[in-house]
Amino acid sequence: MERFDYRRPGDAATAVRTVAADPSAVFLGGGTNLVDHLKLGITAPGLVVDVTSLTSAELAEHRGGLRIGAAVRNSDLAADDRVRRRYPVLAQALLAGASGQLRNMATTGGNPLQRTRCVYFQDVTTPCNKREPGSGCSAIGGYNRYHAVLGASPHCIATHPSDLAVALTALDAEVQVLGPAGERTIPFGELHRLPGDRPDRDTVLEHGELITAIDLPEAPIAANSAYRKVRDRASYAFALVSVAAAIEVEQGVVRDSRIAFGGVAHKPWRAHRAEAVLRDAPANETTFREAAEAELADAVAVDGIDGGNGFKLPLLTRTLAATLRDLTGETA
Ligand SMILES: Cc1cc2nc3c(=O)[nH]c(=O)nc-3n(C[C@H](O)[C@H](O)[C@H](O)COP(=O)(O)OP(=O)(O)OC[C@H]3O[C@@H](n4cnc5c(N)ncnc54)[C@H](O)[C@@H]3O)c2cc1C
Ligand code: SF4
Repeated sequence: MERFDYRRPGDAATAVRTVAADPSAVFLGGGTNLVDHLKLGITAPGLVVDVTSLTSAELAEHRGGLRIGAAVRNSDLAADDRVRRRYPVLAQALLAGASGQLRNMATTGGNPLQRTRCVYFQDVTTPCNKREPGSGCSAIGGYNRYHAVLGASPHCIATHPSDLAVALTALDAEVQVLGPAGERTIPFGELHRLPGDRPDRDTVLEHGELITAIDLPEAPIAANSAYRKVRDRASYAFALVSVAAAIEVEQGVVRDSRIAFGGVAHKPWRAHRAEAVLRDAPANETTFREAAEAELADAVAVDGIDGGNGFKLPLLTRTLAATLRDLTGETA
């Protein structure tokens, strides 16, 4: 590990100014991703600025929804009674991720900014455009079982690993940001980027911008929501595919839905096409599968040394159908 300076400023504005003024500075949340990267040599900041005590660690009622302070730990968020009742998809997504110990440390601000689990990104001896722009993408034709089938580019086929972020995308959450130029609000669905020719940039955040809170809007539909994650092991593993879904059905017809996919793209994937197929259609297995297939119409599977990732297409269709069956009481 390279040597670095550590600072814990007295307030968020000072932390933002400090990081913005130093291109080698980074924010530190719970450290469960950043510290691993320091040890692996993936990143070597000159200055680490600890923000865990500078943003709120509270959940508060906000415009009919909830405001989650960026310092709220993943465990506390998953355990909150309001979240469990009003946004069960969020609690389920959190509990599907990592381990109890990690969730006790991980923060609401840091979780969506965790970086890809692509094995080549984490192995500094291999080419990787995300870690070292212009060096190439070892995953194309390599080990890419966990990689993207939607929105990838010739420069990067990585997926975003956060479960929480998939639920926040489905829920139309908003990100509150404090930067050197002041405050701004980013719709959660616009926080993460597709790779294009800049896979080194995961999000639209500028250097020095601090997440201070994430807002959940009032959403009665979210009371009937769920998160389903398919992985190689039953726990302590990242998603091969995942589905965050909320649905409202009236007399056997879908009135409204919110769908997002994880494990399939460089960003949490809002499934607008699937939602359009579901709207005003019979709530049955045929519709659920057609919705998934519509969303996957432009999907591209990638060959790889272990058979590639084409298995994700039928797997995602089945996973969406199973999630919606559970939420609507329909049978296959
Ligand atoms: C073994 C293991 C298994 C895991 N399994 C899963 C899993 O199944 N699902 C899952 O979703 N996650 C999983 N994780 C990842 C874990 O959820 C993340 O490491 C954690 O959520 C990151 O949060 P943190 O607060 O520790 O972030 P940190 O590690 O502190 O920071 C992460 C990034 O966010 C930046 N940052 C932190 N806070 C802020 C802020 N307020 N504003 C702006 N930038 C900020 C940091 O500079 C850094 O770039 C796993 C991790 C491990 C080690
Ligand atoms: S998929 Fe992206 S993160 Fe993985 S090796 Fe290729 S460029 Fe790097």
